[in-house]
Amino acid sequence: MQVVLLGPPGVGKGTQGRRLASDRGWALISTGDILRDAIAKGSPLGMEARKLMDQGMLVPDPVMIGLVRERTLEPDAREGFVLDGFPRTVPQADALDAILQDRGRPLDVVVALTAPDGELVRRLSARWECPVCRRVYNALSAPSRDGRHCDDHPETELRQRVDDTAETVRRRLEVYREQTAPLADHYRTQGRLREVNGTGPQDHVYGALMAAVGTNGH
Ligand code: AMP
Repeated sequence: MQVVLLGPPGVGKGTQGRRLASDRGWALISTGDILRDAIAKGSPLGMEARKLMDQGMLVPDPVMIGLVRERTLEPDAREGFVLDGFPRTVPQADALDAILQDRGRPLDVVVALTAPDGELVRRLSARWECPVCRRVYNALSAPSRDGRHCDDHPETELRQRVDDTAETVRRRLEVYREQTAPLADHYRTQGRLREVNGTGPQDHVYGALMAAVGTNGH
């Protein structure tokens, strides 16, 4: 299946999307992770994206569309994929439809995860991630075993994202409201949106996500 996970920063797209993709043998395609890798490598894409990301602004549509067009063609995405962080604008959504239509394999489902702003800010300021596997921890609700290192990479210290500072978080939520939230309406009017409450225990959210995607995990 080809699934889009929509939702504001901090709602759990990465955590839930990773679990869904891994359970089903699909690729998890996180555009934020792809950009962070590009920055770490110092590639031209990374150089273009860095400043915008640090400020909580969006990377231009044509760059993101080209990137997703290529990434969704890779072999690990053949069985299916979960898109986390893309589309983020209506032009990105339209381009995605056009790309997948051309391949004769349209999107199966768009799931919007929801949570109140206060909860998002609280989660983002407590978010720590493993720079090796990108697993995300939360210092308050889901810490790693020793609180400092990744459970799967005990040598690796967790770190905070540079754009998880209070001011940048505010800007990212603003950008989300202005540019990305309209996408929910866009998909809703097309009858393609399923909404899942992203608050509460991770396992409950995951159960609701699987139901929304129409998979019982087998
Ligand atoms: P994320 O990891 O999804 O929170 O993304 C981190 C940052 O990467 C965003 O704040 C944007 O600067 C950039 N980014 C990720 N995905 C996109 C996208 N689809 N369109 C534009 N910018 C993006």
